[in-house]
Amino acid sequence: MKNSSENRRQELEKYFDAKGPFALFRVAQMKRAWQQSNRRELTWWENTYIPSLFTGIWLTSKHFFYNFTFHILHLFGLYKNVKAAVTFEYPEKPRPLAARSRTRHRLTKREDGSPRCVACMMCETVCPARCIEITAAEHPDPHIEKYPAEFILDLGKCVYCGFCVEVCPEDAIRMDTGKLDIAEYSRASMIYNKKRLMNE
Ligand code: SF4
Ligand code: SF4
Repeated sequence: MKNSSENRRQELEKYFDAKGPFALFRVAQMKRAWQQSNRRELTWWENTYIPSLFTGIWLTSKHFFYNFTFHILHLFGLYKNVKAAVTFEYPEKPRPLAARSRTRHRLTKREDGSPRCVACMMCETVCPARCIEITAAEHPDPHIEKYPAEFILDLGKCVYCGFCVEVCPEDAIRMDTGKLDIAEYSRASMIYNKKRLMNE
């Protein structure tokens, strides 16, 4: 082990360029190799893993009794300002999200149920992941110029930056469904069309 670490260190030193773009990374690698070569041998007592076992039990018990005590005290209205760990029974009870969390998108509707989107293409243009694809069509209402004949959003590519929501002039797209656990069996199922974005 010692020899291989030493060899590794020498090998790294050979390629080390103090002015190179990865100099800091190389220093970290060399430091790790040096630490490996100087790692102390475990004693026979440590090799039994008994000290590690008791350390683990002590750590788990410490957290258990800490949380248990404060949850009991909270029941009596005491020490409410001290936080104790809470286990969420996901997926039956999902963790509450912050009010401003960006979650899965939806297309908002007008009173007649049609999409508010006017197919201005702002969201498609601003999207850094290029995951929005809109097919615009002439709207039958002369007061509305266009509407999206199709609105495709590939959630497999989306980075949840929220730019599409911010740029929309019609408040037609929102990320407030509260849905984050979007799991599918294929990439194709991650592609949402207008119908899914309006109704799911
Ligand atoms: S959240 Fe960002 S990446 Fe996702 S669709 Fe909107 S603009 Fe594109
Ligand atoms: S920015 Fe809004 S109105 Fe414009 S195409 Fe996107 S969702 Fe529709």
